[in-house]
This record gives sequence, structure tokens and C-alpha cells, in this order.
Amino acid sequence: MSARVLVVDDVPANVKLLEALLMAEYFDVISATNGKDALDMALSQSPDIILLDVMMPGIDGFEVCRQLKGRVETRHIPVIMVTALDQQSDRVKGLEAGADDFLSKPVDDVALFARLKSLVRLKMLTDELRLRHETGRSIGIMEDETVEDYRETSGARILVVEDRRLYAEKICTALNEEYDTTMVSEPEEAIHQVGSNDFDLAIISLSLQNCDGLRLCSQIRSLDETRQLPLVILVEEDDRNRLMRGLEMGVNDYVLRPIDRNELLARVKTQIRNKRYAEKLRTDLEASLELAVIDPLTGLYNRRYLSSHLGNLIKKSAENNHPVSLVSIDIDFFKSVNDTYGHDAGDEVLKEFGRRLANNVRGMDLACRIGGEEFVIVMPETDISFAYTIAERLREEVADVPFELSAGKGSITVTISVGVTAAEDPTESSSSLLSRADQALYRAKDEGRNRVVTKAA
Ligand code: GH3
Ligand code: MG
Ligand code: MG
Repeated sequence: MSARVLVVDDVPANVKLLEALLMAEYFDVISATNGKDALDMALSQSPDIILLDVMMPGIDGFEVCRQLKGRVETRHIPVIMVTALDQQSDRVKGLEAGADDFLSKPVDDVALFARLKSLVRLKMLTDELRLRHETGRSIGIMEDETVEDYRETSGARILVVEDRRLYAEKICTALNEEYDTTMVSEPEEAIHQVGSNDFDLAIISLSLQNCDGLRLCSQIRSLDETRQLPLVILVEEDDRNRLMRGLEMGVNDYVLRPIDRNELLARVKTQIRNKRYAEKLRTDLEASLELAVIDPLTGLYNRRYLSSHLGNLIKKSAENNHPVSLVSIDIDFFKSVNDTYGHDAGDEVLKEFGRRLANNVRGMDLACRIGGEEFVIVMPETDISFAYTIAERLREEVADVPFELSAGKGSITVTISVGVTAAEDPTESSSSLLSRADQALYRAKDEGRNRVVTKAA
């Protein structure tokens, strides 16, 4: 993962040291030695992350952080405050200034890379979301919500696996202000919990008496349902070996004992945001895929989906020596429905017809609205006479049961004309199949409408 890091420190030797560490891991490093330059560079160079020293002459780190977080152009850039080891109060001040994470001086490289990785990943997700929102807004399919709305983490569900009661209670007390926590002490219970509940995060002690916490992490990582669950481990300060192994197996972050409350809260917040961004991205993606292939009025597939899948359906059916049938439907005199009852009533009829159509086909059939009042059903593994039976049943159901309009606008009797054909040859093209079904449909119109006509290959 490559990213641009802005290092801010008034002591050139500190900058050099961090630069060397970061460049060895192929980060792109830029640096500033005072607050003002840092603010300018944050604007002009758009770094992915900022490592910010607290103690600087002039504008100090807290003020730089406050200003960064106060500006729309820079507030999405994660800030890691670099504080002196013994200054607990600095951490609180940093949090209040909007810092996303902390590192203690002298900077430990394990800690540095664990935090960088986690925040850079979060930044990438945020950038992607910002971009989608931009596009979504510009084509008018997305509300005017901001990415900042997803920074909210309250109400998240956290599982805490810690068998020493006193510690467990302390952790839960800190977390309970904002989160919904579940406390367990046995690994079996932990596995059961993560399998049956929807947690946003698990915090796991590596000092469990009857079990190796790392084994528990690896079990959680290997289960399909919990592979994505963010994990934070609690590690003894001298247990670096297991810390490294944890990070290697994909644990997301760690907190050293003795646990600092603010540090724990900051890390928890980052992990939960990370997870929520990722979920938001996934649902946005699903929604945009759906938007591309689903007709919004009827919920049926659209013409684009039909044209991209029909060829495959023909080939697959014919290869298995099954015919595939195609049914082309057009509502009769639909223009007069609009003219008599209005366009909205017309839409209601289309919707209700879509429902009746969907109710009359099987799961394997593909029902599409390909144009205004034109529909197509593709029926794999179906011969022409069976397709005729289904089409005839649908025609009757439409003609026999009037369409009720909303708000007492009465009801309309609607009829359809239908053309049915089938392909038995795997080399037949989609367009030739569609055009044969259309020819049958024209004949149905010609012969007086409200009827089904078949045309074999
Ligand atoms: P025919 O029996 O020959 O098919 O007659 P028709 O009136 O159904 O055929 P025509 O193709 O002349 O008219 C189709 C009408 O469908 C015209 C158009 O206004 C209407 N239409 C197309 N899309 C929509 C839609 O999304 N909503 C509504 N309400 N009407 C639509
Ligand atoms: Mg029509
Ligand atoms: Mg038409």
C-alpha cells in the first residue's frame, strides 16, 4: 500500500528519521518543519496522511490539527499526533483537536506501520466514497448527504474477550458510553457470539489463561461470516513476538498494556469507521449495479440486461439439448389508457402488469421490461408449446381481472398481445430470436389483439 505521508516536526533529525523509515517501506514522503508550512502543504500537496509533532514553536501541533479538521479541503486527511511518551494529557488534547490517532516518541516502527496501514486504508475508502457521492450528486441519483455522516460511530456493537474481570469491566465502562458491548471470557463463547451476532469490532486479550488469543483471532479470520470483522488485540508490552504474528495474520490494530483509555477509544473509533465506510461502499456498489440493470418502475430487468444475457442463455440451453423459449408481449391500445386516465394511471397499470408477469413465471425465467409497454420473458429449458401455455395463462389473467387504479379512480380492463417462439440451435443469435418473436407478436396484433401467436424456428 503506497501513500503520500506529510511529516511535520520542527527538529530536522526527527524528520530525517521518519523519512528513512517510511521511504524504506515505499511511502512517498513530504515534510514540513513548522505549523504554517504544514497547513500550506496539506492544501497544496493533498497528502494521504499527516504525522504531526505536538511541540513546535509558533503554531503548535494541536492548533495545526484544529485548523486542518476545521477546513472542508483538509478535514478528511487522517492526522496522527506524535506525543511525548509520558504526556497523557496531550492525548486528550489531541483527541479534542480532532486527531485520529497517536504515536509516542521515540516512534516505534511496528506501531508506526500498524497505524499508518489502518488509517491509509480508511482514507482510501473515504476518498472512494467522496468520489461516488460527487458522481452520484452530479447525475442526480444521490441525496446531498456528506461523507462526514459516516464518521458517526455511536451504537456500534463490540465484543470484548478478556477473562480477567477487573480489566474487562474497566474496558467495558470506557466503551459503554458510546457503544453496545458484550463481554465474554471463554474462546468457545466468543466464537459462538461472533457467529450469531452482528458485531462491528472484537477486542481480544492475548493474555487469556486457558487459550491462545491469537488462535482465536485466526479462527475468526477463517470463518466466512466473520472474515471481515475488525480485530483489535490487547498485548503485554514485552510480548512483541506475538504482536508481530497478530499483525501478520491480519489483526487490524493493537493496544499495549497498561491500557490507556483514550488510546483505546481512538483506536476503536478508527476501526469502526473503517468498517462502516467499507459497508457503505459495498451497498452503494450493489445499488449502482442494480440501477444499471433493473427497471425502476416495475422492478423487472431492463433491456440492457436482456441483451447482455440472452446470448448466454441460448447457448447454455442448446448445449444441454434444451430449447429456450422467448415470449414478446405488448399491451394493447396502451396509448388510449394514458389518453383517457392520464399518464400516472398508465404507470400504475404498467406496475400491476409487471407484478402479474412476475407471478406467472418461474425463478429461472428472465422477465424484462424492454420499452414503454413492451415486455419479454426468456424461458430456459422450455419448449414452444409449454411457453404458449404460460403465455396464454398470463393473457387470460390480464384480460379477466380488471386493473384497479388508486384513489377511487376506478378500474380498467387491459389486454395484451403476445408472440412466442423458441430456439433449438445454439448458433442462433439473440436478435434473430427476438425478431421472430416480434413477428409472431405483430400477427397477434393483426389478427385482432388479446391473443397469443406462436412462430416456430
Ligand atoms: P397497440 O395495441 O398497437 O400496441 O397500441 P398502443 O397504443 O399500445 O401502442 P403505441 O406504441 O402507439 O403506444 C404506446 C404508448 O405507451 C405510447 C406511450 O405514451 C405509452 N408509454 C410508453 N412508456 C410509458 C410509461 O413509462 N408510462 C406510461 N404511462 N405510458 C407509457
Ligand atoms: Mg401497445
Ligand atoms: Mg408498443
